[in-house]
Amino acid sequence: MICWLATHHRLRTLDLLVKIGLMEENKCLLCDIDEESHSHMFFNCQYSIQCIEMIKKWLHLSSMQTLLQRQWIMLQRSRRTGFQKRVIAVVFSGLIYSIWWARNKAVWNQVVWRPEVVVRRMKQAVLLRLKMVMPQKISTREKKWFERIQSE
Ligand SMILES: [Zn+2]
Repeated sequence: MICWLATHHRLRTLDLLVKIGLMEENKCLLCDIDEESHSHMFFNCQYSIQCIEMIKKWLHLSSMQTLLQRQWIMLQRSRRTGFQKRVIAVVFSGLIYSIWWARNKAVWNQVVWRPEVVVRRMKQAVLLRLKMVMPQKISTREKKWFERIQSE
């Protein structure tokens, strides 16, 4: 959650740029449908939703509506192991970072990366990081789970 809150405060959305006259409109550049705001980007935007759907499929998080705060608490209470929860937390942070990254590419470089590409990049970065900080003691079940998410 720390990451989510930090992003929340750091976000300089187009809304603000419009107010100070740097931009003429504050349409979300990722979906080109709604106005950009923090709540739109996380996670009402079609672009973000597409990313979330891919991650849900990847991590088999079928019961979760989104990865929003309420679901986050549910995850903490779920029967998943500590290791799995930690992995999901890292993926969640990676997702927020990636959406914000994609949004900045759209604003400053006028390039909108496809959600598939953004998610693929994020997965690679997250898995690399996780392999470096892997706890030595994980159960066979966790090991199998981690092998599966690496191969998908
Ligand atoms: Zn949008």
